[in-house]
Amino acid sequence: MHHFQHRGDDLYCEDVSVARIADAVGTPVYIYSHATLTRHFQALDDAFSSVPHLICFALKANANLAVLQLFAGLGGGLDVVSGGELYRGLAAGVPPERIVYAGVGKTREEIAYALRSGILMFNVESDQELRRISEIAAASGCTARIALRVNPDVDPKTHPYIATGLKQSKFGIEIGRALEEYEAAKTLPALDVVGIHQHIGSQITMIQPFVDSLTRTVGLVRQLRAQGTDIRYIDIGGGLGITYRDETPPLPLEFARALIDVIRDLGATVILEPGRVLVGNAGILATRVLYTKQSPVKNFVVVDAGMNDLARPSLYGSYHAIWRVHRVSGRDEVTADVVGPICESGDFLAKDRTLPRFEPGELMAVMSAGAYGHTMSSNYNARPRAPEVMVRGNQFYVVRERETYADLIRGERTLDGC
Ligand SMILES: *Cc1c(COP(=O)(O)O)cnc(C)c1O
Repeated sequence: MHHFQHRGDDLYCEDVSVARIADAVGTPVYIYSHATLTRHFQALDDAFSSVPHLICFALKANANLAVLQLFAGLGGGLDVVSGGELYRGLAAGVPPERIVYAGVGKTREEIAYALRSGILMFNVESDQELRRISEIAAASGCTARIALRVNPDVDPKTHPYIATGLKQSKFGIEIGRALEEYEAAKTLPALDVVGIHQHIGSQITMIQPFVDSLTRTVGLVRQLRAQGTDIRYIDIGGGLGITYRDETPPLPLEFARALIDVIRDLGATVILEPGRVLVGNAGILATRVLYTKQSPVKNFVVVDAGMNDLARPSLYGSYHAIWRVHRVSGRDEVTADVVGPICESGDFLAKDRTLPRFEPGELMAVMSAGAYGHTMSSNYNARPRAPEVMVRGNQFYVVRERETYADLIRGERTLDGC
């Protein structure tokens, strides 16, 4: 469900035409729907309303301050994976007591920053990290709330780059060793052991991997409680998939029902870390056709957005639907690759896609680009990063400006200038 629909022949985001935004702000441009973001958050929130819970949005999916502020206003928190993400979250006004912090490579500086900020808990990924957090907390005279991230060794049946809960993965602590680590945590100074964490992967479209992994984690929680460790927070991670093409991921209600069945009697607070499912279909990337060209074996549509703007197709071979912003009748259909201006053959947004013929100057919408779109963008080929626009009703707001050429060299010096 989202709020990008054609009215007559023109694509609208809520009550604003995409062409109007493209004309005002230029292309490429990311466009987000306030109504879709709100609806996605509330659907998940409602689905878990029968248990105490906190939705900690994984901001690596979409880190725009306006998005973070919107979710915080709806009662949400954040899942951060770096000091920079924590900084963004705090800058957006997200209360620190609703922020959890995961990641295998937290530095001393990042740990100290999170402690000073008073976050809800660290999701700890190794025994060395556990000791480091204890040491830093003890030295600064405070207590660190921690959960251990356990690796339940479950196959989420997704792209191997985004599977994170298999035993060969770098994430978390092997579930068979977790009891031991919890015992160790209890003996270390300045730690308050409050939770358990898992996150098995991303773009998961079946319920079963979630149920299997949570069942294992819950088994561990029962053992821990029997040994006197009070696990108050069960952080079930993120990973719920969305429809990019024809996937049929579980609805929030089905997802919630299946998981609540596994955890209800524990009486713990459930933390969810959804990323993609909240923002993916709430955003598009609007781009303009520059040229069309034919090689002897292929047709190409060259657009002004590239892999630096949206990396997913190049990185994972991901499918994004391509829509015409203005529909025209009577155009013949052409099978073409939609490619960007970057000097790499891997620079494509769509491959062998059959679409009504595009002409130079026409606008294209790359759908489902709200998650891992702008956050993964780069300045490769010295391309300024695209602006971000939020639409609410019949108004649109530029919530991040397009970068300028001057931004590209900010902070750089030649040796003469050092
Ligand atoms: C990436 C990530 C998420 C969010 O994943 P989605 O698939 O976008 O829901 C949640 N938790 C952790 C620890 C992550 O690394």
